[in-house]
Amino acid sequence: MAKYSIWVMEYAYMPKAPVSAIVYGAHNQGVRKMPYGYVLIKGPGCLAMVDVGYNHKDFGETLARKFDVAGWQPPEVVLAEAGVRPEDVQHVFLTHAHFDHAGATDAFPNAKFYIQEREISKWIWAMALDKRFHWLQGATDPGDIMRIVDLARQGRLVAVDGDREDVLPGIDIRAAHDSHTWGCQFITIRNDGRRESADTWVMAGDLVYSYDNLRGVTPGDPQYVPIGLAMVSQENLLFATDHMMNTVGGDYRRVVPTHDEEVRDVFPSRITKTGLRISEIALADGEPSLVSGGG
Ligand SMILES: [Zn+2]
Repeated sequence: MAKYSIWVMEYAYMPKAPVSAIVYGAHNQGVRKMPYGYVLIKGPGCLAMVDVGYNHKDFGETLARKFDVAGWQPPEVVLAEAGVRPEDVQHVFLTHAHFDHAGATDAFPNAKFYIQEREISKWIWAMALDKRFHWLQGATDPGDIMRIVDLARQGRLVAVDGDREDVLPGIDIRAAHDSHTWGCQFITIRNDGRRESADTWVMAGDLVYSYDNLRGVTPGDPQYVPIGLAMVSQENLLFATDHMMNTVGGDYRRVVPTHDEEVRDVFPSRITKTGLRISEIALADGEPSLVSGGG
């Protein structure tokens, strides 16, 4: 019944991310590994991704050093584990423009990119502010924004204003404005193709970093807790979280936080020869597994 196969492909990681960055207010609670990943979606005659990671050169490398990112591998190495070449990817949904999500657009020469129009315009606005406001750009490479603008010049950018349904059959864009960033969006995959789907997956981008943001940290007392980083509004992060949870009927395991190592406990996964993880969220009918029978 499943139309799309969905994998989270880890491409780098922060060995020691402060827990307070992952769960708002969790001060003095140590560090956790925080994977950096993107999502590969394979359907009938169709290859798509959610986010593309960053390019470990120029200012992308500078930001990676600032955040102590380790283990980076380029898309051609990461995607080869799925038998995919970057030039084969046709559609890319950019959840937002932070460097670790939208920094490798130039590695995908044939893809069409979908981003919220508000995400582009507000980053340009932020870049034009006085340097005393530089905190807003803490995880952003201005070069990435310029590359996204250039995609428009090449006719390969779709600037979306709000929600858009069936961008690909069964795949919807949902806006979550003024939350983690100004123009965040999340991606839903209705994998049975039905409008009232019983098999929906949500690709959350950075609206949540961890399952802890979806269920809280107190057993028996589920509640939403925002991530530690909102450029705009913690309140809007909570309502975006509620929107995502309602989309999947309240089952937090159907909201996929690519930054959470715990994804390995929820889905089948394996470690590749480069030490990075592949997690198999869904498998289309007839598609061979990338994780079973492997290493
Ligand atoms: Zn982000």
